[in-house]
Amino acid sequence: MSRIERVELFHVNIKLSEPFFPSWIPGYPQTHNRSTLIRFTTDDGLVGVSSGAAFTTEREGLGELLGGFLLGANALDVATVRQRIKEAGYLGWRNWWIEPAFWDIRGKAEGKPAYKLLAGSDETVEKVKCYASTGEIRPFEKRKPYLDEIQKMGFRHVKLRVHDFDEEKDFEILRKAREYVGPDFGIAVDCNQGWRVALVDDAPLWDLPRALRFGKVCDELNIAWIEEPLDMHNFPAYAELRRQIKTPIAGGELFTSRQEMQAAMDNEAFDIFQPDCCFAGGLEDGIWLARECAKRDLTFTPHTWTNGVGFLMNLAVKAASGSTLPLEYPYEPPGWTPEGRDAILREPIRLNPDGTVNVPQAPGLGIDIDEVALRRHAKRFHKMTPARLAIRTIREKGLKAALEIKKKKDSRV
Ligand SMILES: [Mg+2]
Repeated sequence: MSRIERVELFHVNIKLSEPFFPSWIPGYPQTHNRSTLIRFTTDDGLVGVSSGAAFTTEREGLGELLGGFLLGANALDVATVRQRIKEAGYLGWRNWWIEPAFWDIRGKAEGKPAYKLLAGSDETVEKVKCYASTGEIRPFEKRKPYLDEIQKMGFRHVKLRVHDFDEEKDFEILRKAREYVGPDFGIAVDCNQGWRVALVDDAPLWDLPRALRFGKVCDELNIAWIEEPLDMHNFPAYAELRRQIKTPIAGGELFTSRQEMQAAMDNEAFDIFQPDCCFAGGLEDGIWLARECAKRDLTFTPHTWTNGVGFLMNLAVKAASGSTLPLEYPYEPPGWTPEGRDAILREPIRLNPDGTVNVPQAPGLGIDIDEVALRRHAKRFHKMTPARLAIRTIREKGLKAALEIKKKKDSRV
């Protein structure tokens, strides 16, 4: 048994070298790469880490909630900690991003990379093919140097972004890009309609007729997939789009549960499922979905656009999945670079010249936190140990009730 003895939470706040303008929040200049890092330490010295994307310091009170659920739990019993994460989610935040830390711990306990545990196989996956994922909407002339650069880097696939009020401008970006890179280079397109956030600038809300017009153009241009051309839950419209358009339809990046994935499959909404273990069900639901897709002749490649730790978490699912689609490699200089994306890792995750990234073979998830960089870019806002939790419970509930609670909880572990 490896009991969780310490829970630490950090606000990570990496200043970007240049502002980044995410297509999913039109007009918003993102100046920082923010996330919450969680670190669990067990009584036998195992450490597990995971990360959740953050807009600001919205998880300030999360530690107070989590302590009672996770301290003292057996970190190697992933089924039980998953249940506790789920229950904590009923009371507070969406917490699935925490789950991968327990695969990190289990991998370290068993001396195996997490992807092998997920795959249930000892087969080594050395590398995973990636696509260059843009994050900004840029007119073609401004996109051209990027297309040159990524081809030199070794990418063979790109994902562009579109959603202008004038749909002709969207078509033009794709037509010119296709003409420029030629017929053999993979082009996917993300319309960012799944969970539109018009916080600063207004942006169009697509409906089925617009998605259909867009889809016809994509069919002509041999586009690899159309991502989120409609609200993420509009399954009937997605199904209709799939009936009328040849280009594969992708989505699901912000699903938060296995139930949503199941409903999307049952309603035949997507050809390509793109969950992110930071949002939906952790690694276990990720690999479950990959297997379901394989059974139904659908395909799977996770969303990874959070940060370097989130990328490694999703990479583990991808490596375990056997999926041959390329994996999202978020890259949009000058705002979004490997250095800013992965600043708390000892080394940024780099692309190999053959367009792949290496799958970490170290036990666990291979998240190698640079403690100096973590001190520089992050502030620990919570540390909970059993002793601290006990003091808090005694203060709040009284000694007798606190001892009673402890006795009951200990008997369950
Ligand atoms: Mg997307």
